[in-house]
Amino acid sequence: MNNPSEYYKSCTLCPRACGVDRTSARGACGVGADVYAARAALHMWEEPCISGERGSGAVFFVGCSLGCVFCQNRAISRGGCGKPLTSDELADVFLRLENVSHANNVNLVTPTHFAPTVAEAIEKAKSRGLDIPVVWNSSGYESVDTLRLLDGLVDVYLPDLKYFSPAISAEYSHAVDYFERASAALDEMFRQVGEPLFSDGTGAVEAGIMTRGMIVRHLVLPTHTVDSRRVIRYIHDRFGDDVYISIMNQYTPASSNLPPELSRPLTEEEYDSVIGFAESIGVQYGFLQEGGTVDESFIPEFDGEGL
Ligand code: SF4
Repeated sequence: MNNPSEYYKSCTLCPRACGVDRTSARGACGVGADVYAARAALHMWEEPCISGERGSGAVFFVGCSLGCVFCQNRAISRGGCGKPLTSDELADVFLRLENVSHANNVNLVTPTHFAPTVAEAIEKAKSRGLDIPVVWNSSGYESVDTLRLLDGLVDVYLPDLKYFSPAISAEYSHAVDYFERASAALDEMFRQVGEPLFSDGTGAVEAGIMTRGMIVRHLVLPTHTVDSRRVIRYIHDRFGDDVYISIMNQYTPASSNLPPELSRPLTEEEYDSVIGFAESIGVQYGFLQEGGTVDESFIPEFDGEGL
């Protein structure tokens, strides 16, 4: 890998391919070349094989290259907050999550726009003894070339596949090419990690924690259950039982400027109809969410804890 700073000078790290010099300006992701994070702490609300009993060591990065209108992490996704971290400091954060917090993994939340520095930090942490899995938790809107920087460094991919329809992705995320780019990204992620493996509890993490593999997440949006069915059919047709599918129900209307169809929570009938569809096509390995369709406990405090 080149020096990380080289990647930021004319940035094409994500499919936006802004070409801006992030050493002196911000790209569409809202951030420059300095890595900013807003929290690094145990997170209990990921899938059971990611959080386990001890919790997942979630590092929340500032900024986002996708910028959905309904963003649930609006407090940090547009930049202008958090704490700057060098790759050495980030490696220290990862090691504290393992050695002090006893996390089941390092869970990198929305790291795409900082990929070269994060890759360098993972290398440094692993050379200094990091032994828990590294999870790449992203929007799925990623460049295959950027993902190749992570080959051999990331153990578990946890991408979203948000939309099938280009019209819907253009309207809600200003990314008409979302499915085209995310589906190519998922292929590259799967090429790197392959079929799922789980801890037997004899190593650094609890029994049952995923140590290698891919979980594809899909947040069901109000009104758009037909698109959700297309997404789930695609994942199942493409990867069969070799990846897990996580079908999420916690959509929360997060702004007063949303289009009318997104201004209400998901109904239980909408969620159940998508789950019923997944079962009808033979999805076996997946995660559902139980309880109400809105739960703000999924959104943590972005108060700099652990940094
Ligand atoms: S990572 Fe940011 S600056 Fe780089 S191409 Fe994507 S949106 Fe643009």
